[in-house]
Amino acid sequence: MDRISEIFGEKVFSDVVMKERLPEKAYEALHRHIEEGTELDGTTADVIATAMKNWAMEKGATHFTHWFQPMTGVTAEKHDSFMFPDKNGAIMTNFSGKELIKGEPDASSFPSGGIRATFEARGYTAWDPSSYVFIKGNTMCIPTVFCSYDGEALDKKTPLLLSMEALDRQAVRLMRIFGEEVSRVTTTVGPEQEYFLIPAELYKKRKDLRYCGRTLVGAKPPKTQELDDHYFGVIKTKVAEYMADLDNELWQLGIPASTEHNEVAPSQHELAPIFSTANIALDYNQLTMEMMKRVAERHGLRCLLHEKPFAGINGSGKHINWSIATEDGENLLKPGKDPVSNTRFLLLLSAVIKAVDDYQDLLRISVSGASNDHRLGGNEAPPAIISVFLGDDLLEVMEAVEEGKTSVPERERRMGLKAAVLPDIKKDTTDRNRTSPFAFTGSRFEFRMAGSRTAVSCPAYMLNTMVAESLRQFADALEGTEDVEKAARELVRETYSAHKRIVFNGDNYSAEWVREAESRGLLNLKTTVDALPYFTAEKNVELFEKHKVLTRLELEARQSILYEEYYKNVNIEALTLLDMVNRDIVPAVAAYIRELAETAAVKKDLIGADAVCRTEKKMISALSGLLDELHDKSSDLEWTLEEFDPDSDVRDAAEFFCRKVLPIMDEIREVVDELEKRVDAVRWPMPVYGDLLFSGGGQ
Ligand code: ADP
Ligand code: MG
Repeated sequence: MDRISEIFGEKVFSDVVMKERLPEKAYEALHRHIEEGTELDGTTADVIATAMKNWAMEKGATHFTHWFQPMTGVTAEKHDSFMFPDKNGAIMTNFSGKELIKGEPDASSFPSGGIRATFEARGYTAWDPSSYVFIKGNTMCIPTVFCSYDGEALDKKTPLLLSMEALDRQAVRLMRIFGEEVSRVTTTVGPEQEYFLIPAELYKKRKDLRYCGRTLVGAKPPKTQELDDHYFGVIKTKVAEYMADLDNELWQLGIPASTEHNEVAPSQHELAPIFSTANIALDYNQLTMEMMKRVAERHGLRCLLHEKPFAGINGSGKHINWSIATEDGENLLKPGKDPVSNTRFLLLLSAVIKAVDDYQDLLRISVSGASNDHRLGGNEAPPAIISVFLGDDLLEVMEAVEEGKTSVPERERRMGLKAAVLPDIKKDTTDRNRTSPFAFTGSRFEFRMAGSRTAVSCPAYMLNTMVAESLRQFADALEGTEDVEKAARELVRETYSAHKRIVFNGDNYSAEWVREAESRGLLNLKTTVDALPYFTAEKNVELFEKHKVLTRLELEARQSILYEEYYKNVNIEALTLLDMVNRDIVPAVAAYIRELAETAAVKKDLIGADAVCRTEKKMISALSGLLDELHDKSSDLEWTLEEFDPDSDVRDAAEFFCRKVLPIMDEIREVVDELEKRVDAVRWPMPVYGDLLFSGGGQ
């Protein structure tokens, strides 16, 4: 047996393991529970729990935890031991169906966006049986959802699961109208994950990386990515060892990590898994990010998952590849051999186009956050304007349909054929569509605005819900029509006409596109603070409530959490910057100025009053000027932070930090970067970009 199949899924209580270890009745009851939502009775739950526990203990696990995804950037777990001594000193086991199904962590230390204040501090975790139990370290982890005492979702997974159900309901309706008996339609997601690797000892010397995950200052080194020599370049030994070790860990967890390559920026890399059902992709991706960091430490490296760790150098994204499929795995976004006559495909495609147009604001919100704002609109990531790339082939098809044609002329028709062949359409269009935030890539959409740290869930639940709404409208319109084919084609035509303003095949980075988008009436929500008010717009509340994904209260809570997260992050950055400026940078520059002055004085002592000290004088004058400027600006930042009223409403707080604090931070950075270029390298109080990016990790 080869290495992968030997270790793959070794630490997962997978379907194969369940089949092997569970009595047939329990195994079947569990499947009915997962697929049809039937209740799992107490006895069966106990049987499953015991089998799980025995399996985990055989693999060396001593503890178990409900593993969940609160509204922070990380996952949460509280470990309990499988065994405990009773009063007579005998060892008792502590894991039954009850512990498997439900947990009661204290919710008060997790963000709730005000929900907690109005209800109880207690929260519940509930087993998500559609995602497999796995072992991490010595702990058996049970994937769960997390909600408040009254059932409001307090995590990232709940809305995703509900949105998958919403999409399933509407897609199945539509499939039946087309005479196809499918019992379930699922969402598939494959997230490509970008990251930086830098030497750990250098990371430790940067307060900004330690506290904020990104550099707050740092001048551009003489070389970065201009030669494009890193992208797909040969992977260096140290990094190759890291990647092999990481693959090993991920495979044991059953995570199908498949491709790894260097990215555009020096020290930047990418990992892509084979896609899976959306909620499993979410779990896998969260685990992948955790493992990336952990394995890096073992190799003397640090893995940076921040969206924009280095100014002027490409940031890291997470391309969320998204599609819908039947339970048998038939991808419903495959155009087929002749897309122009594939009405069902065209209808699904139009449903996505319409959804993206109707809910541009939601997609923008799904990738919001102070850190990703630095990336969106930079010349490496899609801008904050949402548009859909179809590629020339499909664009021609849609335009032909809009004109009422059922075929496209021979030339286009042949091109249309290519759409059925994934590698061709990708090869042909990759270069042209790299700038698009939302691109059709042959048999799926690729949402490229997500930042590297963004959990898959928010973009996915928003997409699912908004597409569910398009499908609902389509199903309502088509149900009961006599000639479904004809009515559906008419619907595609109308929908495309009404929403084609969102389709754009050109260069999304260009200034003309910004102007054109404006004239098309598309939203351009540049910052998180510009985007977040839309979260609770009436049309959006209506959407989520109609499809039973989130209630108004939950939406308001989520909005409030995002505002809070935003301003707190910027505040931490501002304080870190002040600390670095006041305690490290200013003293280093002042010391260097003194050294120069002393040099001049020594020269004068030695040679006399007419000693030439032109260089020292010029340098001292330039450095002193910059130092004064830095001092003025950092005082300005201090005063501004003092103006902040900690009791202000979260939205006002976010506005304050966005409009008042960030601009001063940018000004400070400019002065510091100028100083960095002029101060003695030995005296500069932290490793510079050149050290971080070209000294080992990735180069
Ligand atoms: P590229 O770099 O050209 O975008 P990659 O091969 O690196 O392509 O990544 C493509 C990602 O898309 C992979 O994670 C893959 O599993 C995923 N993917 C492929 N087909 C689907 C699908 N039908 N649904 C969701 N994700 C998909
Ligand atoms: Mg990609």
